Amino acid sequence: MRCSLAGLPVGMAKGMAFLVWLFFTSSTWQAQAGVNIAPAADVIKPASRTLMFEDAAGQLDIDQLLAQGDTLPWQPLQHEVANFGFTDSTWWLWLKLENNSAMPLRRLLTLSSSLPDYVEAYVVDEERRIVQQWETGSRRAFSSRPVRHHTFVLPIYFGPEESRDVFVRLSSHDGLLLATPLFVMDDVRFLERTQSELMAYSLLYGGLLALLLYNLLTWLATRERGFFYSVLYLGAFLFLNFILRGFGFQYLWPERPHFTQPMLLLSVGLLYGALTLFSVDYLNLRRKAPYLVKLLWILTGLIGLGLLPALGGHFSRPIQWLIPLGSSYALLLLGAAGWLCLKKDRLAAIFLVAWGGFLVGIVLYFLRLGGIVPYGLGSEYALELGAAFSFLLLAFGLAFKINRLKRDKQTAERKHYELQRRHTRELESKVQQRTRELEEANRKLSAMVRTDPLTGLLNRRQFETLIDEEIQRRQRYGKPLLFAMMDIDEFKPYNDTYGHQAGDEVLIEVAKLLKRHFRRAGDRLFRLGGEEFGILLEADSLQEGSLALERFRHALQQLSIPHKASGYGVVTGSFGLICCNDYGQMPTAMAVYRQADQAMYEAKQNNRNRVVSRLLASKTSA
Ligand code: GH3
Ligand code: MG
Ligand code: MG
Repeated sequence: MRCSLAGLPVGMAKGMAFLVWLFFTSSTWQAQAGVNIAPAADVIKPASRTLMFEDAAGQLDIDQLLAQGDTLPWQPLQHEVANFGFTDSTWWLWLKLENNSAMPLRRLLTLSSSLPDYVEAYVVDEERRIVQQWETGSRRAFSSRPVRHHTFVLPIYFGPEESRDVFVRLSSHDGLLLATPLFVMDDVRFLERTQSELMAYSLLYGGLLALLLYNLLTWLATRERGFFYSVLYLGAFLFLNFILRGFGFQYLWPERPHFTQPMLLLSVGLLYGALTLFSVDYLNLRRKAPYLVKLLWILTGLIGLGLLPALGGHFSRPIQWLIPLGSSYALLLLGAAGWLCLKKDRLAAIFLVAWGGFLVGIVLYFLRLGGIVPYGLGSEYALELGAAFSFLLLAFGLAFKINRLKRDKQTAERKHYELQRRHTRELESKVQQRTRELEEANRKLSAMVRTDPLTGLLNRRQFETLIDEEIQRRQRYGKPLLFAMMDIDEFKPYNDTYGHQAGDEVLIEVAKLLKRHFRRAGDRLFRLGGEEFGILLEADSLQEGSLALERFRHALQQLSIPHKASGYGVVTGSFGLICCNDYGQMPTAMAVYRQADQAMYEAKQNNRNRVVSRLLASKTSA
């Protein structure tokens, strides 16, 4: 076919093309129609007038192709974009470009993708001579490109009124030929497009890089892991996109074309790993859905495993592997964020929108790559737009998260402080209570130490302590010291008759009576032991004291506590009173006690129920 085209005028060539179209397929005529490249105004999309031919064995070279020409099953490109997907065949494209002007022209045919592995292009003139040819592709050194650009740009020269047939041979080393949009334009358009494209990439990469650095610094300052993971995530995406768009090859390893695909898939693996780290931390999945974390890591691991063949230079298998796994992963993450969102997790809502936006971009880009969505600025750069949107939103989310953490921390601190204060208050009140209890116990203990538990009167030890003090005090004030002893009469028989308990009650009654009778400030009452009592009297003379005791003795008898075994028929007591008003010679406590006891003994001897009183005998006072 090429032969006939070469030698015939344009009109006849069109006629031939029509015949081919009739013979092989539906729209060959259109494809055969030459594309007029003379108008410089616009970027031409020649795909609709391009024929393609599948060389399944990949054996044909350009000479054979030219020789066999129209006997080959050429077909029109179905889409605006040359797209072959997973294929082991070699594909030929045939474009007819015509310069309808009287000027010599140069036009740039661009294969607007960085991905095709092998690109061989031949420009054939009307005499079937190859006038220009290139062997390039992403698996050939970067220097093989006629124009140093991240996609493939082929400058084609036309004489006045000349037409050129361009044959492009596309093949892959590993069975994957992704969609490659075709454009024809003049240098000016190319310059304009390249400029805006570079500006867009600069903005994207610059913005993402700034965000990455900002997150890195924030991580260094706050040590909040989320920022570190977002640095990894951003870094992995930047790396991936830089390679995907051909810049990695162009700027980082231009002489190592075999590097690109492994690096590309490695960056995909990194991206998944970083995304898992980031999402698990950001959504707090470890606490909220631990099983989901496992699932995400399993998927990430499988994706990583699936990407391993890429290191050996295999590209198409990993991608086939990646499509279902990557989609499951994406949906799982989307589902997790949606589920948390339903539980009113605001961070998850931000994540859902961000990740959703990114996914839309990814899906659109892949649909574009697969030729399902037509080529356009929107679909071509959907990936970058989605990513930029997502990263910005996630940066906002991280700030939001930090804010929430700060608030949570403040609340926790306040709670902790309040708890501490309450504890302190409780502790203080407990200490006060314990102190009060202790004081009370001490008071009781000291009272117990000082008093007799049955009668509540001062005990014997207290008597021994106080008597000396009292002797000195009365001496100081020049007052007489009066001390009496009392012993209940016939108490043993009382106990025997009425029981020990009744005896105790008598002791209590006697003590009460004592307290009622001796109420002066200086009066002191003691239980000295058994049914013996001691009375330190506040009185000015022996007579006065004697009278007071007599009144008491009488009162006791008047209590009329029955005592059958006593000659008086009631409980009575015998008293011995000692008065000391001569302090020339200081009496000892022992002397006071002994003489009071003797006086009391006399009372006992003297039919009991009486008071024997006397002055302290000075000879015993020494
Ligand atoms: P008297 O003094 O009149 O010569 O005869 P008495 O029977 O009171 O003599 P004694 O001093 O020998 O007896 C004292 C009795 O007091 C012995 C004991 O039974 C009784 N007694 C001593 N202490 C207590 C006590 O705390 N409670 C009771 N119920 N009895 C006591
Ligand atoms: Mg006695
Ligand atoms: Mg007695």
